[in-house]
Amino acid sequence: MSSGQLIAITGPSGVGKGTLVRLLLARHPELYLSVSTTTRQPRPGEVEGQDYYFVSPDRFKTLIATGQLLEWAEYAGNYYGTPREKVETQIHQGRTVLLEIEVMGAQQIKQTFPEALRLFILPPNVAELERRLRDRGTDTEDAIAKRLQRAKAEIELSTEFNVQIVNDNLDQALAKIEQAIFN
Ligand code: 5GP
Repeated sequence: MSSGQLIAITGPSGVGKGTLVRLLLARHPELYLSVSTTTRQPRPGEVEGQDYYFVSPDRFKTLIATGQLLEWAEYAGNYYGTPREKVETQIHQGRTVLLEIEVMGAQQIKQTFPEALRLFILPPNVAELERRLRDRGTDTEDAIAKRLQRAKAEIELSTEFNVQIVNDNLDQALAKIEQAIFN
């Protein structure tokens, strides 16, 4: 069996990468979405092992120290990382694995998994990104301000990725992602 592919989808928080990934999975059930590990508290309705593996900061440090994460990053005061073993197992079984991760971690993938295809989702503009973050209603004003500040720095790094896709229209953005993955 030939090896599968690793696809890292990144972009600033609020850009719509979660929605795009959900649509992509609905259309292509053969894709495997990696479940990340995080130290942040579960939000209402989030399920352990499905949305995230929720761990303590000490446990997260152990995962880093023992090389069990393919990448990791600190984001808005919490840690997030991709469990290495599950991803590698799926890829060896020939599956295409998706990561939906923030930008610093996606940058590390270039070193830890050079064959990966790294896609960067851009907002049409920063004002639209701010509106989307507010509409989501999950974050405090302080968290929104931090996420926006970080988003501006992240957008400057977009050219380091293999493909840049502007999420102005969901269907068009989805078609471009499909084209990049399945071409
Ligand atoms: P949230 O707290 O809203 O679920 O996620 C915050 C950010 O962390 C999002 O941009 C999300 O894509 C990112 N994220 C989720 N899992 C991972 C991961 O395993 N690694 C990295 N680097 N970022 C992640």
